[in-house]
Amino acid sequence: MERFLKRYWGYLLIATLFILWIKTPVDPLVLAGGFLVGLAYMMFVAPAWCGATTRSGEPCRKNAQGVLLGCSYRQHKWQKVQHFPQLVKSVTLGASNLVGSASAAIAAVAALVAAVKAM
Ligand SMILES: [Zn+2]
Repeated sequence: MERFLKRYWGYLLIATLFILWIKTPVDPLVLAGGFLVGLAYMMFVAPAWCGATTRSGEPCRKNAQGVLLGCSYRQHKWQKVQHFPQLVKSVTLGASNLVGSASAAIAAVAALVAAVKAM
């Protein structure tokens, strides 16, 4: 359980923020900050598959950290950074990381909405 929490705390954070948002009057600035932390978690920390295109044309299946970072191969890290603008456009960021990508998109939108509310 402890290992699970260490790995997936970002998902819990985003879920908790949504519950707080619906159930209690929380300062929108706190929500915006929380969702930004959630977004950073999805981008750089969440357990994910690399998904970079390999020489055989298939997506890499090695483990990676976050939607944005590749696996241990330097070329895969570089490939994912290079393709970042395209990835942002196509919200899904490749089917291999669908859950992480969708969560990142949700956190980003929620942070934006909360920030606008705070103004
Ligand atoms: Zn890889």
